[in-house]
Amino acid sequence: MIKVAFYDTKEYDKLSFERYGAMEKMQFRFLETKLNEDTVELARGCDVVCVFVNDTVNAKVIDKLYELGVKLIALRSAGYNNVDVRSAFGKIHVVHVPAYSPYAVAEHAIALLLTSVRRIHKAYNRTREFNFSLNGLTGFDFHGKTMGVIGTGKIGRIFIDICRGFGMKVIAYDRFPAKDSGIEYVSLDDLFKRSDIISLHCPLTDETRHMIGTDAISKMKKGVVIVNTSRGGLIDAEALLEGIKARKIGAACLDVYEEEADIFFEDRSGHILNDDLLSRLISMPNVIVTSHQAFLTEEALNNIAETTVGNIQSYFEKDGICDNELCYHCGNIEHCKKERKERCF
Ligand code: NAD
Repeated sequence: MIKVAFYDTKEYDKLSFERYGAMEKMQFRFLETKLNEDTVELARGCDVVCVFVNDTVNAKVIDKLYELGVKLIALRSAGYNNVDVRSAFGKIHVVHVPAYSPYAVAEHAIALLLTSVRRIHKAYNRTREFNFSLNGLTGFDFHGKTMGVIGTGKIGRIFIDICRGFGMKVIAYDRFPAKDSGIEYVSLDDLFKRSDIISLHCPLTDETRHMIGTDAISKMKKGVVIVNTSRGGLIDAEALLEGIKARKIGAACLDVYEEEADIFFEDRSGHILNDDLLSRLISMPNVIVTSHQAFLTEEALNNIAETTVGNIQSYFEKDGICDNELCYHCGNIEHCKKERKERCF
């Protein structure tokens, strides 16, 4: 029986893995704690650690896992910026879930955007108090506005299709533009200058960290709306707050936040929040924050369970071969297409 240490377990994780019948195939050790240097020891005796976006899988954790005899790190996410893939090279294999429901994330980005622009969150609170006033609820039409999309991969492209349905003009920036996609690619500066709304759908890398900072914001239109359902580190949150205070940024819709690791996914009501920056952002009337919720649909959870179990089985049953392995060996981990259908290292 393959033994799996399942870190950062939530009730919905257990339900989806149980529903998929995973318990009959593997032995799970469900742990509520996140993986980090202090909790890595809990994986002793396990063959696999199964982790999510806010688990810390740095060089020290990897070395300890290696020492414990863990053979596989199975991410339950698409993004893998929290895993030091280079340090894992030659020691432990890393697999992820490349696409569990790009629709879930793209649709959540739109949900945040419509809520913010049409002030739905404010109207909801008002009518519950029998306040039927419309003062302060004026929004704007999506139709005819320019949407700037950064990152035109699986999620970005679905998001673009939805935006076109609204009659928006879409421009995009991608480090690796998709050929023959019919997408109008522009430079990043051009995108900043021309967009009424900017939505981020690229991964967090050394290159993209803080791509939305003071300099970028200075190039944007006054009143621009920024949507981030990708990774918090793409935005310099202090610069964002300054942009909001200066009335340069019209609204921000955030599903992710750079310092979310110890805050998001937990019930912090009744506690004093130590993060002043996040508190200040949440206090702004034109900021909406959801706590890394974009992936959370029935379909996505089922796909995560199915693919994760499939990844683990594939690794152990096919002598370490798994199509969803994160490839460091080819030197281009973001674009490894696994055409070789063989081990990466
Ligand atoms: P993907 O790999 O299909 O697409 C990413 C795109 O970003 C690619 O087209 C790539 O060329 C582009 N890119 C890479 N480097 C870039 C750069 N420097 N500048 C601009 N573009 C660059 O990934 P995806 O499935 O569309 O997911 C996108 C991101 O969404 C993930 O990296 C992840 O961080 C995030 N995500 C968030 C949630 C959530 O719940 N909030 C869920 C899933 C994924």
